[in-house]
Formats: sequence, C-alpha cells, structure tokens
Amino acid sequence: MRLPLTIWQQDDYLEFTSKSGLIMGGFFGLMLAMGLSNLFFFITTRTPIFLVYAGYVIFLALTLSALQGLGYRYIWPNSPWLQQHAVGIFANLTVWLSIIFCDLLLNVRAYSTRLSKLLNITAYAFLIGLVISLFIPLQVFIKTFLLMLCASGVFILAISIWLWIKDIAIAQYYTLAWAVLFISGFAVSLDTLNIINFNLPSYYLLMLGAGIETVLLALILAISHNQQRQALLNTQAKLLNKERQAQHAQKDMLTLQVNTTEELEYKVQERTLELEIALRELSDTNRELQEKNTLDALTGIRNRSYFDKKYQAEVRRSRREKTQLSIVMMDIDHFKNVNDQYGHLVGDECIKTVAHTLKKALKRPSDDVCRYGGEEFALILPSTDLKGALALVEQLRTEIEKTTIQAEDVAINITISAGIGTAIADLNQPEDIILALADKQNAGRNNVQGSQLDVIQQQD
Ligand code: GH3
Ligand code: MG
Ligand code: MG
Repeated sequence: MRLPLTIWQQDDYLEFTSKSGLIMGGFFGLMLAMGLSNLFFFITTRTPIFLVYAGYVIFLALTLSALQGLGYRYIWPNSPWLQQHAVGIFANLTVWLSIIFCDLLLNVRAYSTRLSKLLNITAYAFLIGLVISLFIPLQVFIKTFLLMLCASGVFILAISIWLWIKDIAIAQYYTLAWAVLFISGFAVSLDTLNIINFNLPSYYLLMLGAGIETVLLALILAISHNQQRQALLNTQAKLLNKERQAQHAQKDMLTLQVNTTEELEYKVQERTLELEIALRELSDTNRELQEKNTLDALTGIRNRSYFDKKYQAEVRRSRREKTQLSIVMMDIDHFKNVNDQYGHLVGDECIKTVAHTLKKALKRPSDDVCRYGGEEFALILPSTDLKGALALVEQLRTEIEKTTIQAEDVAINITISAGIGTAIADLNQPEDIILALADKQNAGRNNVQGSQLDVIQQQD
C-alpha cells in the first residue's frame, strides 16, 4: 500500500492547524446556525419543510464531521461503533431528507403524483441503504452509496429542470443550488483524480459546495415560504373582496326588493282607488239607470212600473199606520179626437202639458203623479182623506180646463175627468181595491168624483 506523505515544518504545521480550525469552526457554526434557525422556524410556523431542512443541514454537518474524524474527536469519542458507521448513517439520512425536501419545496405532487411517488421511493431507498450500511464494510457501502447518490442527484436535477421549463420560479433557484453542489462534486472528483489540482484538501471543496448549497437552499426556502404566504394573503384578499361584492349585491337586492314592494304597494293603492272610483261611477250610473227606468220617456214624470211599486208600498203603509190613502185615476177627455184632428204630435204636447201641470200642482213630497197609460194619469196621495183629495183634484181639473195649450200653430183647450178612491187599507181586502175604486169613479166628461171605501162597503 502506498500513501502520500507530507512532512511539515513546525511553524507551517501550526499555521495550517490554526487556519483549518478557523475554517472548520466557521463552517460548522454556519451549519449549526442554519439548522437551529430552521428548527425554530418549524416550531413557530408548524411548516414541516423547515424541520426537514433543519434535519438535512444537521445531518450534512454530521456527515462531513464524520468524514473528517471531527465527530469522533469531539462529539462521540466514546463510541467506536458509531465512528465506524457514522458516515453510513448520517450520509443516508442527509440524502433521504434532501430528497423529501425537494419533493416538498417543488410541490412535485401538484404536477405529477407519479414523479412524487418515485421521489419518495428514492428517498426511502436511502433509509434502506442506512440499515444495510450497518452490516457491510464502509468501502463496499461507499461505492453503492455514491452510485445511488449520482443517480438520484441526476433524477432530482431532471425534475427541477422540468419544473423550471414549466415556468415554476422556485424550480429555477433550486436547479441553480443543485448545480452548485454538482459543480463542487465535479471539482472534488477532478481534484481527486489529479486532473486539476486546487491545492486544497478535497473536503474543503466539499464543504465549500455544501456551505453554498445550504445557504442557497435556505434562501429558496425563505422565498418559497414568502411566496406561499403571499399567495395565501392574495387568496384571502380575493375571498374578502368576493365576500364584500356578495354583500353589496345582497344590499342592492334588498334595496331593489324594498323599492319594488313600495312601487307595487303604490300601484295597488292606485288601482284600488281607480277601482273605487269606477265602482262609485258604476253605482251612480246604476242609480241613474234605475231612476230612468222609473220615468216616462214622453213626459218625464214617473211611469206605470213605478206607480205599481209605489202603490203597493203606500197601501201597506196605510194599513200599518192606519192612514187614509187616496188614489186618483185621471183621463183626458175625448183625446182620440185631439189626435184625429191635430195629429199625434199635438196630442203628445197635450199629454206633456197635463203631466207638468199635475206635477207642479202637487206640493207634498209624499204625493206622486204617474203616467198610467196613453192619456191616463194616476195620483198617489198618502195621508189624504177623500175631502182633501176631492179639493185638490177639482183644483187640478179647473187649472187644466183654463190652460190653453200652444202646440205647433194651434191652440187647444182640453179637459180632464178624474175618479178618486180613498181608504184605510185593510188586510182583509185585496191590495188593488182602492185603484179599482178610483177607476170606477172616473166617469169622464170634465168631472171629478170620489168615494170612500168603507162607505162603499156599508152601502154594499
Ligand atoms: P174618453 O173621453 O171617453 O176618455 O175618450 P178618449 O178618446 O179620451 O179615450 P180613449 O181611451 O177612447 O182614447 C185614448 C186615446 O189616446 C187613444 C190614443 O190614440 C190616444 N193616445 C194614447 N197614448 C197616446 C200618446 O202617447 N200620444 C198621443 N198623441 N196619443 C195617445
Ligand atoms: Mg182613456
Ligand atoms: Mg179619455
């Protein structure tokens, strides 16, 4: 076996050891600081990736310290077994955690579950490697380990580049950090193979690479964490905005609803009012129509149909109140001759004149004059005895007799004759008995004649 041998001058050796101690102290201090700070980040944020990273940094430091015998000298001096297996244990743990870190940081699962699964399998292969390393010699283990490390390193780099191409910003930084490790590994290999001589112990190069890689990864982790936090904040802001918009929309809806309801109520009120007016008008019109139905078209006084109802009502009242009811049946004398001689228009004029004269002469509001038929009129005189009725009708007869009717270019004088029936109505008698009596009393020829019903009965 040939070993390289360096013979030191005492001063050179002292200088070398103090320099090396400074570099080592700086490096492991940095690693410890990184490990601890990320452990604290994990405790405060509860984000698993910080724990993974802290573990990765600490195990990397332990691996390097084991490689240089520093661990055995300072950390586990009493455990030769651990010294024998330390590189196997810590190196495997380091790689296991660094692959898990890659999976978490790049969120590979979000882009390909299959790749993420493959990454995890690769990671757990290193745990198996750890167990195996406990049972096989270091030389054999190191070879297998380096092979696995190279393969998985290329795999991770490939994933990282793939995600970079997919435009994932974190993947860019990660690829860079990973490339630094590769370059340092490459440099160590070149130095070891004596292709290039850096004039430095090979583990310095390794430490330099690991140190830069660690710092870069911490930076990426911070960036990624910040981006995620920013994304979360953005999502929250968006949600808040959406909620606010929804609230606005709801408010608008409510206002619209209130307005619509008010408008509707107003319209209903308006329509109700219109309806009420229409109903009132209708009822007025109805009343007018009813009124018209009771009027005679030619003379404007009450008609036969009105007389029939009024007669019935007054008979009943007379019966109830035991008051005298006088009914007058009046007839224009020789009216056929008027028509024949002067024509129907003149005849009509006569009928109208008689009607108005009669109407004007009746003073009591309860008295009524109706056109009974062609030239016949009927008077209803409630609470009027025969004597009163005779006087009134006689007065009417003379008034008409004196009136000269001007119709077209003729002047005519006409006479009327009337029959009066007076009675206090009785339940035992038919209702139309007073009317029949009045009709019977009308003897014609400019004459007024009347009769009291009980007198007739006594006579009968
Ligand atoms: P008397 O003296 O016996 O009562 O005979 P009169 O001719 O007056 O009575 P009559 O009942 O015989 O004839 C009534 C006439 O009245 C018959 C008809 O031509 C006329 N007359 C009925 N209604 C109207 C009307 O509305 N206008 C006109 N111009 N004439 C009418
Ligand atoms: Mg007649
Ligand atoms: Mg007549």
